[in-house]
Amino acid sequence: MTLLDGKQIAATIRAELRAEIDALRQAGRRVPRLGIVIVGHNPASETYVANKIKACQEVGFEAERIALEADISEADLLREVHRLNADPAIDGFIVQLPLPAHICESTILSAIDYRKDVDGLTPENVGRTVQGLPSIVSATPRGIRELLARYNILTAGRHVVVIGRSNIVGKPVAMLLMQRPYLSLPGMSASSLGDATVTICHSKTQDLPAICRTADIIIVAAGSPGLLTAEMVRPGTTVIDVGINRIDDPASPRGYRLVGDVDFPAVSPLCNYITPVPGGVGPMTIVSLLQNTLQAYHEHTR
Ligand code: NAD
Repeated sequence: MTLLDGKQIAATIRAELRAEIDALRQAGRRVPRLGIVIVGHNPASETYVANKIKACQEVGFEAERIALEADISEADLLREVHRLNADPAIDGFIVQLPLPAHICESTILSAIDYRKDVDGLTPENVGRTVQGLPSIVSATPRGIRELLARYNILTAGRHVVVIGRSNIVGKPVAMLLMQRPYLSLPGMSASSLGDATVTICHSKTQDLPAICRTADIIIVAAGSPGLLTAEMVRPGTTVIDVGINRIDDPASPRGYRLVGDVDFPAVSPLCNYITPVPGGVGPMTIVSLLQNTLQAYHEHTR
């Protein structure tokens, strides 16, 4: 069994990005600038945003945190999105989710200029990705694909089972891995991407264990600790655990620890490859946001 070390791969990619940014500076060019809109004071969102800003600083990007009050109206938030769309100093921006209940997330996301949509969540970017047009791919699916590619795990002709059908993970990762491999990204070998046979499962799927036992690669993004058990995994499978769940742990100084959706102790001995949680998909998601920002910068400054 080999651990897919997202932390290590993300560090390698950050070093590559840093070298590219150093070269830009030396050439007298400006560096990429990412805007991060955060609405209200959700502690988890505050942590995610702080991590994204830190990641930007580590590679030499500029980051602008735009903090808005929880009671901001949808109209005022839309005005902020339009302002960022028009701001020539911003190459890309994200609106940290979730938004307060009185604001419609899809209205806000749809208003983002797809060329600055470095979360890859606008209908334009999703549609362009589906059609194989140049697009910004959402961060977690991009990170999963990159992790597979950097470990030379081929997906062509393999059966990939995706558990979860969200717009940010399940649907886009399924679509990416079944694509013809013409959407190659810098640093990736096109032959290692896409061309998989993909099955998407969700909470209404019948006999999930039987479907999982036919998989070469299982990607779990359900938010349900221990969902993937040893009886669902045949020997030699690759398992990508996207889940991030807090479970109580009085022995931890924080009172909780993070686990994924996989029963790791029982499943990992069966796998060829498996991601740990933490340290697998999570670091790849953040570094993919940086790669998306650089991609938007290059388009913006062409
Ligand atoms: P979500 O919460 O929007 O949806 C969960 C999906 O899982 C649904 O489609 C549901 O049908 C399916 N599901 C739930 N229980 C199931 C079951 N028992 N059997 C089959 N399907 C089931 O999903 P999300 O936003 O994609 O998040 C999923 C998990 O991934 C969460 O734990 C989240 O925190 C985590 N996540 C991690 C990263 C990362 O960078 N590592 C990024 C995004 C999300």
